Amino acid sequence: MQVDVLAADDLKKTAPVFGQLSFDNHEQVVFCNDKDTGLKAIIGIHNTVLGPALGGTRMWNYNSEWDALNDALRLSRGMTFKSAITGLNLGGGKAVIIGDAKTQKTPELMRKFGEFVHSLSGKYITAEDVGMDTEDMDIVREVTPYVTGISESKGGAGNPSPITAYGVFMGMKAAAKHKFGSDDLDGRKILVQGIGHVGEALVEHLTNEGAIVFISDINPTRLEEVSSKYGVTIYTEDPYDAEVDIYAPCALGATINNETIHRIKAKVIAGAANNQLQDENAHGLLLQERGIVYAPDFLINAGGIINVYAELEGYGKQEIIRKTENIYNTTLEILKTAQAQSITTHHAALKIAQQRIDDRKRENLN
Ligand code: NAD
Repeated sequence: MQVDVLAADDLKKTAPVFGQLSFDNHEQVVFCNDKDTGLKAIIGIHNTVLGPALGGTRMWNYNSEWDALNDALRLSRGMTFKSAITGLNLGGGKAVIIGDAKTQKTPELMRKFGEFVHSLSGKYITAEDVGMDTEDMDIVREVTPYVTGISESKGGAGNPSPITAYGVFMGMKAAAKHKFGSDDLDGRKILVQGIGHVGEALVEHLTNEGAIVFISDINPTRLEEVSSKYGVTIYTEDPYDAEVDIYAPCALGATINNETIHRIKAKVIAGAANNQLQDENAHGLLLQERGIVYAPDFLINAGGIINVYAELEGYGKQEIIRKTENIYNTTLEILKTAQAQSITTHHAALKIAQQRIDDRKRENLN
């Protein structure tokens, strides 16, 4: 008995990556360290069956390196399914840089990070995510071609956030159609949690459509700015208790968890944040049981990846918009499938994405 306990403990110590809950047969995980610039980054490459692993870089002050590793693993896996379901020939990858983007991000650090990306010879292609701007990607571009999301003035497709927000808006409308019978958001009460790059652009679409918008953020300056710009209400209480029709998580992931799930009063959840469900099986099921329509995050927040993919494929703005608008149809189809098969919406989306990967894998073998 004692031997078994020791063996389990030893395994935990010796299997810090393969033993992680969020490890899902990732192909490669790269730890990047540079003493001079202070860079500490983790690049997760989940799957490259459909193409190179493309996904943004997040800079965040993680509580621990374990949190950073888990974020890299979860986010890179999400990218695999996002590109697969969107019909893009891309695999899934993501990078995290440990640190405060406001105080610790320097051009030297970004260049060094770019060198690490370059060392992977195109297997991983980066872009911006939380804590990053197009300007940061321009710096990365100085040392590697394996970067997207660079400025339009430098030949890139520019900031992907407005397109991401448009895709979320499309997905939200589809979810509203499924739940309420109409995709018109005029008069609907919607809470947007996190009013950063994507959240603000989403607020603009929603107010243009006549929705009654509430905003929540940890940054009081942003709240004031966005509230006065769009005439929307700052929600000062805990956002999970809000009496709204739609909850749009646009901050960080895992906001739908054991603490929050029973409090959510919204009938629809549709937002930009990656990995909204802390436990995609248990929490997906609970939402289904509670009759809350959940628009899978990796499906409706794909506008950004569509935008940066254009840089690789060379398609223009019109095609970006067309592909992003199609999120409406795909979302509707997946919500219907989930209902017909009595499975969670997350599972329905995952099944279709996995099927595409499996089909390609079979083709590649033949
Ligand atoms: P951002 O950094 O510009 O904005 C995030 C906002 O969330 C900030 O205003 C921040 O203050 C706020 N925030 C952080 N923690 C919070 C909390 N606990 N409660 C409330 N607010 C909080 O990031 P972004 O680019 O707008 O991305 C938002 C989310 O969408 C992220 O999860 C990102 O991974 C996802 N996403 C973004 C894109 C894109 O194109 N930018 C694409 C796909 C997915």
